[in-house]
Amino acid sequence: MAPISKHDEYDFLVIGGGSGGLGAARRAASRYGQKVAIVEKSGRLGGTCVNVGCVPKKICWNAASIAETIHDAAGYGFHLEQKTPFDWNSFKHKRDAYIKRLNGIYERNLDKDDVEYISAHASFVSRNEVFLSAIDGTGESKTIRAKKILIATGGYPLVPKTVPGAELGITSDGFFDLEMLPKRVALVGAGYIAVELAGIFNALGSETHLFIRGETVLRKFDPMIQEVLTNHYEKIGIRIHRGSREFNKIERTGSGSLLIHVDANEQQLEVDTLLWAIGRVPLIEGLGLEKVGVETDSLGMVKVDEYQNTKVDNIYALGDVCGKVELTPVAIAAGRKLAERLFGPQEFSTRKLDYENIPSVVFAHPEIGAIGMTEPEARAKYGDAAVKIYKTSFVAMYYAMLETKGPTSYKLVCVGPEERVVGLHIIGLGSAEMLQGFGVAMKMGATKADFDNCVAIHPTSAEELVTMV
Ligand code: FAD
Ligand code: NDP
Repeated sequence: MAPISKHDEYDFLVIGGGSGGLGAARRAASRYGQKVAIVEKSGRLGGTCVNVGCVPKKICWNAASIAETIHDAAGYGFHLEQKTPFDWNSFKHKRDAYIKRLNGIYERNLDKDDVEYISAHASFVSRNEVFLSAIDGTGESKTIRAKKILIATGGYPLVPKTVPGAELGITSDGFFDLEMLPKRVALVGAGYIAVELAGIFNALGSETHLFIRGETVLRKFDPMIQEVLTNHYEKIGIRIHRGSREFNKIERTGSGSLLIHVDANEQQLEVDTLLWAIGRVPLIEGLGLEKVGVETDSLGMVKVDEYQNTKVDNIYALGDVCGKVELTPVAIAAGRKLAERLFGPQEFSTRKLDYENIPSVVFAHPEIGAIGMTEPEARAKYGDAAVKIYKTSFVAMYYAMLETKGPTSYKLVCVGPEERVVGLHIIGLGSAEMLQGFGVAMKMGATKADFDNCVAIHPTSAEELVTMV
């Protein structure tokens, strides 16, 4: 039997083989020659993003977009007869096979970079010691030592604790296990995941219900985005149940479907699948943080300073377990910066991730891109007089040939006499690919005049962002 780890002592031990952990471990070993090991308890590398997040989600989003294109094709003169409906089951297995290939690629990359991959559950014994228990059922265990330790254990989806029958529902993790496309699905939540998965289900043909507590989805986004997407989702057939504060109970019927009892007036809805998308919480259970004095906040998020330092001076944390900005590129960037600061040359000793102006995209239908401040945030910070808003809404040329038009709305939030662009909010076809370049401009401190000085690319939707008056 192979030993659980090759060595007893490491320079850098990373707990969690997801986006952040892999970013930190690979940089520390490949660039700075540290003796590094990464511990992963799920049996597969890549973490949430690769296994139950960004990657399989984007593949599903692609499938949904193809379904929309097929629907639109008639408008462009293609008369496709859809004799064979979408085959979810074969799509799902092909998608899973791709993810498995990625797991293998991640493993080989660790090998190339000379990072030892330890397949085990890790928990702290002391500030320099971690207890490893094998996950292969052998019962093997071992305590190893490390000079520096990184906590990058991510998070998991929340399921309500007080709703009887809540466990009959699934979460985004269960979404990726679905063998069949449900005929009727209800999603609860109004954030990234609820909006993305509702869009996918709807485009692929499920009767889709979305239960939200407020009046709009994506309440943390600019009001323009909230309104445009909520209205469009209703227009394309997603049934939005607003102001639904309480779920009284969930029951399984004799036929195997689910009966959802909502609110005091005992509204009922029968569906095949219920999916909770009400946020994620940090994965710290069983880590033994209390043994070493690593502090967490009231939500369980590991407390760190701007350099990813915990209160214990050789223990660091980053990514979703800290809950600051829960995005893959953020975890990767924070991991790489940390490795550079800890193991790089003296001039890297102040390296840290700048959490300002991080672009993010919601893979809704259509996509949403956002970077910087929303209009209300800018008005609260700089005052109404200092803020100038540029807005446009139009029908993208793609829809010229179609009966049903999708929305395109853009907003620039500018401040001061120089009109520095502090917020950019876009919804419409192609927004995801469009945002990255504008993100670079905003990181460089671009003003409205800089936008205007860039000659437009025609005919595109993006050109509207450099021609706003
Ligand atoms: P994770 O990737 O979650 O990795 C943590 C790893 O630690 C896990 O593999 C876990 O098994 C392991 N672990 C935990 N405890 C232990 C332990 N005690 N011992 C050993 N191992 C342990 N972000 C984007 O940027 N774009 C997207 O499009 C996007 N889509 C998403 C879609 C969904 C459905 C979800 C859920 C998330 C999505 N995200 C997206 C967010 C993104 O996946 C996360 O922000 C990112 O994966 C966080 O990386 P991490 O390294 O902090 O944690
Ligand atoms: P979010 O935090 O984005 O959204 C959860 C939303 O659910 C809340 O905003 C809240 O909206 C609503 N909610 C919370 N509690 C309840 C409740 N008890 N009942 C009903 N609704 C509730 O979390 P997600 O789970 O959607 O995603 C987690 C994180 O993962 C995201 O924040 C994002 O960082 C990342 N992610 C990124 C993606 C991307 O980059 N494209 C895609 C998917 C995830 P309200 O207050 O309006 O009710």
